[in-house]
Amino acid sequence: MSAPIQTTEMPKTWQPALHEQQLYDWWESSGYFRPRIDPAKKPFVICMPPPNITGALHIGHAMTATIEDILVRWHRMMGEPTLWLPGTDHASIATHAVVERELAKEGLTRWDLGRERFEQRVWQWRQEYGRRITEQHRRLGASCDWSRERFTLDEVCSRAVREAFKRLYDAGLIYRGYYMVNWCPRCGTAISDLEVVHREEQGKLWYIRYPFAERDGYIVVATTRPETMLGDTAVAVHPADPRYKDFVGEHLILPLVGRRIPIVADEAVDPEFGTGAVKVTPAHDPIDYEIGRRHNLPVVDVMTPDGRMSEAAGSRYAGLDRFQAREMVLKDLQAERLVERVEEHVLSIGRCQRCDTVAEPRISLQWFVRTKPLAEPAIAAVREKRIEIIPERFERVYFNWMENIRDWCISRQLWWGHRIPVWYCNECQGLTVATTDPDSCSHCGSKNIEQDPDVLDTWFSSGLWPFSTLGWPEETEDYRYFYPTTVLETGYDIIFFWVARMIMLGLAMTGKEPFRYVYLHGLIRDEQGRKFSKSLGNAIDPLEVIDQYGTDALRFALVTNSTPGNDTKLSLQKIEAARNFANKLWNAARFVVSALPADTPPAQEPDMAALSLPERWIVSRLHALIESVDRLLRSWQLGEAGRQIEEFIWGEFCDWFIEAAKVIMRGGHADDRQRAARTLLYVLDRCLRLLHPYMPFVTEAIWQRLPHEGEALIVASWPSPGARDAGAEDAFALIMDLVRGIRNARSEYRVEPHRRIQALIAAGAYEPLLAEHREIIASLAGLDETAFVISEQCVAPEKSATVVVGEVTVHLPLAGMLDLQAEVDRLRREIAEAERELRHAQSLLDNESFVKRAPASVVEREKEKAARAAETLSRLRSRLAELDR
Ligand SMILES: [Zn+2]
Ligand SMILES: [Zn+2]
Repeated sequence: MSAPIQTTEMPKTWQPALHEQQLYDWWESSGYFRPRIDPAKKPFVICMPPPNITGALHIGHAMTATIEDILVRWHRMMGEPTLWLPGTDHASIATHAVVERELAKEGLTRWDLGRERFEQRVWQWRQEYGRRITEQHRRLGASCDWSRERFTLDEVCSRAVREAFKRLYDAGLIYRGYYMVNWCPRCGTAISDLEVVHREEQGKLWYIRYPFAERDGYIVVATTRPETMLGDTAVAVHPADPRYKDFVGEHLILPLVGRRIPIVADEAVDPEFGTGAVKVTPAHDPIDYEIGRRHNLPVVDVMTPDGRMSEAAGSRYAGLDRFQAREMVLKDLQAERLVERVEEHVLSIGRCQRCDTVAEPRISLQWFVRTKPLAEPAIAAVREKRIEIIPERFERVYFNWMENIRDWCISRQLWWGHRIPVWYCNECQGLTVATTDPDSCSHCGSKNIEQDPDVLDTWFSSGLWPFSTLGWPEETEDYRYFYPTTVLETGYDIIFFWVARMIMLGLAMTGKEPFRYVYLHGLIRDEQGRKFSKSLGNAIDPLEVIDQYGTDALRFALVTNSTPGNDTKLSLQKIEAARNFANKLWNAARFVVSALPADTPPAQEPDMAALSLPERWIVSRLHALIESVDRLLRSWQLGEAGRQIEEFIWGEFCDWFIEAAKVIMRGGHADDRQRAARTLLYVLDRCLRLLHPYMPFVTEAIWQRLPHEGEALIVASWPSPGARDAGAEDAFALIMDLVRGIRNARSEYRVEPHRRIQALIAAGAYEPLLAEHREIIASLAGLDETAFVISEQCVAPEKSATVVVGEVTVHLPLAGMLDLQAEVDRLRREIAEAERELRHAQSLLDNESFVKRAPASVVEREKEKAARAAETLSRLRSRLAELDR
């Protein structure tokens, strides 16, 4: 496919909508996103964190994609075989939530459909909506290799999941057992600690009397969840608590139920909470579960998986929803006068991350990964810097989490996901774990086997992502060449969900660190530091921004304000400023294109010796920029590198060099014109290369209109720093300082912009330099060439403004800048006005009765007025004295 831009003509303004789709399609179909395997070169590889298929592109995805695309485009231009592997995550529980919501609209549940039809329904949903997010990534300009796109549930990834499960099981690192897990009654599944969101909520603390079995009286226990008392099997106190010491070993009668329960002493009880005596419900609280194990207490599970009371709760309560049961338990206790008092109480409530239902601790039969033996090598990999976390301070967070890691519950009672590859034998009760579906029991050969109905936690498959995507466990060419990957880039908020699991599973499965670097970016916030959210009404929709300002503007605004690991503020003003920058660059390029003589060859690094001073200066400054950007990118300072590129293009290139080049080109000499034009082309070409990773579209659209070698900017070589010329940089800096000084004086004296003014420059040793560049100085500073003198020394003229830059002094005769008499008249009028104000304020302040009676604030205001008028007056008088000498 040939380049979509076959013209040097440039429309008046940069129109992103005209170019973006066209350029993207062309890059993709030309194969620029696909790396060529070259054994002689070390590849650069990023696996994109797979977004959920339920997702739509939000500003966080835009940040992730922008940073990754910058790294990828930069390395591709450096000539490294570069692979950015995209894909999506089946997002087991999240997808369930979405599809079950749809079913609910039809009055159906997943149980009405049954497993097979439900799974069909989800695949159908994925077909229709599940690809939206990958389409949106294209609009961001993400240069991923779509030919290698993966889905966590596709054949290649599913094979890896089974292989990993079997290897971990065979190594004794996966086991099954009854343990307490977090349970969502709405989703009907176990969920991990990380999928429970804890929030402080206002609740109540009920004080309930538990009568003694063998003596009169009672012990009062406090609870936030009275309905769970139906499952109590003890009351516990702290062993050192003098209030209860004598009662330990005695029994109580559990109200409403009538069960005899013991009083036990356990260190886990906090004597400060409530009355210091707590009810123990081993089936419904993780701490009680542990207490129960220590004291051999029975476990009475009074709830069903859907959050209702079970038969074990007694026939009066069985079948009630857990919150209805709470009301009834309280009513019954009150009827028996067993509620002593009720207090308001703030408590932390855990809710399911997916559906916001209050999560319930629940004992159930689940599969677990034994994490300690996996965590140890994962900790060592970071400690020994085989994996570097950027910024480094997140290492502490990582170590802290990994050192306290608990076994990971990996089974989910859901249907959408990787079904657990375990078969149970109905004859010998044996387990068969296999990577391909077996047709008989591996122990007794019976065909009477059934697969475990549960699916694996989504993070189990995402934890294999860096190598499952490349074909592992097959020794594919891709796996051999591209693994281990180079960078894992993600927001710091999912370091535990994902990064930690990839490191553990990567080391355990492949024996290698899955990546060399972990780059963590911060969250994006609004101008006031708030998170973007629909409920706050401050959300910025990346696709709307792209429609309005263009992809380049969004990308540039996102990344130039960011530093690794820190939160970033984003506003529409910043995006607008980035759009203005794209326009500025477009306009500069239009000038360069118009200045190029026909058949100008592609940009080449010029021979410094053949250049004029401004040309040597800009080329040397460009080379300094290349050096600096290179250094910044290598140290992950993407934001600062982008900022410096913008500063150079906008300031040194557009504001100074293009203006100086116009003077050179006006000079008439054909050689000069050609040389200046070629310098413009060289600097612009290199700037486009530096900026391309940030603003891929506008840079490619311009580059295609310049004389160029090679097909496309996206695969052009990354610029290398060339010769510097310190002398030229100093000399031109002096000229710039002089021009700035004169411009400041002009604005101070309010000289009209187009008025050409007189100047006398006492240049000392710089006389030859300034004389040589007289024309440029005159043009940039707005000097009248017929009244502009440069000499070694000169006598200061009367009535002039003075600008001093080092050893050079510029005298600007005021008569040349303004109409002296008019200025004197104006100053006199202003002085008279200031005098009047001062007199008025002073007379009030001299008036004793005013000072006494007026409110203090009014008097204060008059004092300020007087002081301000006095200051204005002295300034105007000294200005008048200068003019009227
Ligand atoms: Zn839920
Ligand atoms: Zn068997």
